[in-house]
Amino acid sequence: MDEIYDLLIIGSGPAGLAAAIYAQRARLHAAVIEKLPASGGQVLNTVDVDNYPGLPGVGGYELGMKFKEHADHLGAVFLDDTIKEIRDQKDRKILLGEKDRYVAKAVIIATGAMHRELGVPGEGELKGRGVSYCATCDGAFFRNKTVAVIGGGDVALEDGIFLSRMCKKVYLIHRRDRLRGAKSLQETFLSRDNAQVLWDTVVEEIQGAGRVENIKLKNVKTGQASDLPVQGVFIAVGIVPQSDAFTGLVEMEGGYIRAGEDCVTSVPGIFAAGDVRTTHLRQVLTAAADGANAVASAERYLESIR
Ligand code: NAP
Repeated sequence: MDEIYDLLIIGSGPAGLAAAIYAQRARLHAAVIEKLPASGGQVLNTVDVDNYPGLPGVGGYELGMKFKEHADHLGAVFLDDTIKEIRDQKDRKILLGEKDRYVAKAVIIATGAMHRELGVPGEGELKGRGVSYCATCDGAFFRNKTVAVIGGGDVALEDGIFLSRMCKKVYLIHRRDRLRGAKSLQETFLSRDNAQVLWDTVVEEIQGAGRVENIKLKNVKTGQASDLPVQGVFIAVGIVPQSDAFTGLVEMEGGYIRAGEDCVTSVPGIFAAGDVRTTHLRQVLTAAADGANAVASAERYLESIR
């Protein structure tokens, strides 16, 4: 017979791990299902978080590990699987994974988001050959080299700052004349001697024979085309919610699962927390808060079906 969980949490980023902590404290029979061997989610690839209260200057990897250690300390259970589908049978939710199936009374979807691709010629072919989506993972390969970061948000600026510590020159290529990322990050990046922003500029093609050698640029205001010889291209043009497995199950908006601050979705007993839900702010702090809210909502739901 299937083991029946009170609560299954899909995903082990800050939202999933905070939910695991709250579920343990609520004494729910719960487990976290994670698809990657390392818990922590996107924050693991962040250099300095610096806006998580009480932990100034904490590194992303360190913060992710602290969340995991906290959940472990409270006895959270982790299952290693990728959920492909949830079948809603009212008081029972059947989760179909690549390895196994699981049954729960309530589910929190905390699958987060992944980097978006730029979608220009050369990007796919040169991926891992100079094209990267993770500066903290790959930056060290570009020591004393010239690189370009594409994007104007927090991630692009953080990547630019990180790369400026080791690269000869870092170009930030942004499609507008104003950056989207936090002012403090803008100030830090712009203060670096080896950093330069190319405004109103888009990448049209990434070129190279086996490795990145050049990017073809276009100024969107003047229409002028140019070449920029670089050895690395770090793409940071936003994120894509990891919600494909739940299409047709819960209401969505632009790929994000529609849910308010209480994390309640269109399906009773299914909750969405963190970057995967519709929200104005996607931070470690707000994801963690979602984990807490989602468990509170799940507890109310479990009480209602008793
Ligand atoms: P983001 O904030 O959505 O920024 C994406 C950037 O890429 C924007 O500047 C955007 O330009 C640009 N862009 C999008 N599509 C493009 C394209 N096709 N070609 C060229 N440029 C393109 O994404 P993010 O930086 O990945 O951050 C994701 C979320 O995580 C955000 O909510 C962010 O605040 C949060 N975050 C927070 C922290 C922190 O608090 N420490 C750290 C990292 C991330 P436009 O500006 O013109 O739209």
